Amino acid sequence: MEKMNLNNLKDKIKQIVLDEGAKLVGVGNQERLKDAPPSGNMDYCLPGAQSCIIWAYPNPIEALENYFSKKERMSIKKAQQIGYAGAWRTALIISEFIEKNSDHKAFPVIPNAKYRPREDIPDYIKGDIRYPDFSLRYGAVAAGLGHLGWSGNLVTKEYGGSLYLGGVLTTAPLESDPMAKENHCNKCKICSKVCTTGYFSENEQEDMQPVIIGGFKETYAKRGTFSQCGIGCAGWYGLSEDGTWSTWTPGHLCLKEFSEKDWSNHDFRRNLFNKILADNTIPENIRKFNQVIARSFGKVAALENVGLRPFTDTNPRCGNCNFICIADPKKRKELYNMLINSGKVYIDKEGREFVKKDDKNGNEITYYPPTENEFFTKEEFSNR
Ligand code: SF4
Ligand code: SF4
Repeated sequence: MEKMNLNNLKDKIKQIVLDEGAKLVGVGNQERLKDAPPSGNMDYCLPGAQSCIIWAYPNPIEALENYFSKKERMSIKKAQQIGYAGAWRTALIISEFIEKNSDHKAFPVIPNAKYRPREDIPDYIKGDIRYPDFSLRYGAVAAGLGHLGWSGNLVTKEYGGSLYLGGVLTTAPLESDPMAKENHCNKCKICSKVCTTGYFSENEQEDMQPVIIGGFKETYAKRGTFSQCGIGCAGWYGLSEDGTWSTWTPGHLCLKEFSEKDWSNHDFRRNLFNKILADNTIPENIRKFNQVIARSFGKVAALENVGLRPFTDTNPRCGNCNFICIADPKKRKELYNMLINSGKVYIDKEGREFVKKDDKNGNEITYYPPTENEFFTKEEFSNR
């Protein structure tokens, strides 16, 4: 079979990625990542890799409005499934395409939930931090899609940071796209305000290790302990500091009340997980809710690939720092206002979630957002 030249190969790869539903795609190289932390080293996944092809799927605005106002969370569930499962499916298609049409090797990057073994991480690094085999965020910066924002997420000009990334590494020396000139994070710090766990600082910059990509230093907020985000993002706990709004969880505890010292203590973290999953003083419906989340997470951990997560186990309950960071700063503030006026999520005895909030006149209202079965048609559901 005749092999493609590198320019045609690159053009065709980009076209396939866009045809598969991504909205942004770029190509970067190992040279730009040579001074990045270890997760920027492509050789770890594919010895001799020279290029990374990285793409992105943004969250639809209407889905975000519904999510933050607590009208429904099923549209974001769908967007997340498209983002992760789509990223993985496309990575497999592109890898196969490169290997069929050139003499080069390719490696599909798992979009999330695959981490390097702990031994690889130096001792001085705190807590329970984990690093991915290859960082799609670093790759995206190298591929010209954007720069890291205060949240540590990639922020693009076109869609901000409210997106999902996919990627492939290859030994093909594809021509790189230009790096993004500007960083479109405007340091509004809304990402930090919408986090109920205190995982990243509103004022302090992370200084653990420099992130240098293409000769530029990327800066972002100081991080706490991985479990902080783990617990909040999973949906076990999520309550604002003033107690007026929650994430999509009945776990009404604000994790910001614990100190950095608490979080870095292994026993503290173990006791907190015990409380979440096995404390008999917690109402049974909440305990069951927590255990369902634990089972979903267990499945993804065993798969080591969020791209293979079943649709029923895809249940975004926080993700706020990423979701809220849309490109338009005015609209971002609107989403923030929706969130802080969205009330709190509870579950009833049967385990069904409902929302309590005050209406415009200050009267408390209660409603049940649509469930998975109510929201999706049977056909939509079985196609996931
Ligand atoms: S929400 Fe604001 S501060 Fe945070 S990453 Fe986005 S633009 Fe930057
Ligand atoms: S996903 Fe939620 S809990 Fe985790 S850092 Fe972002 S806002 Fe905080």
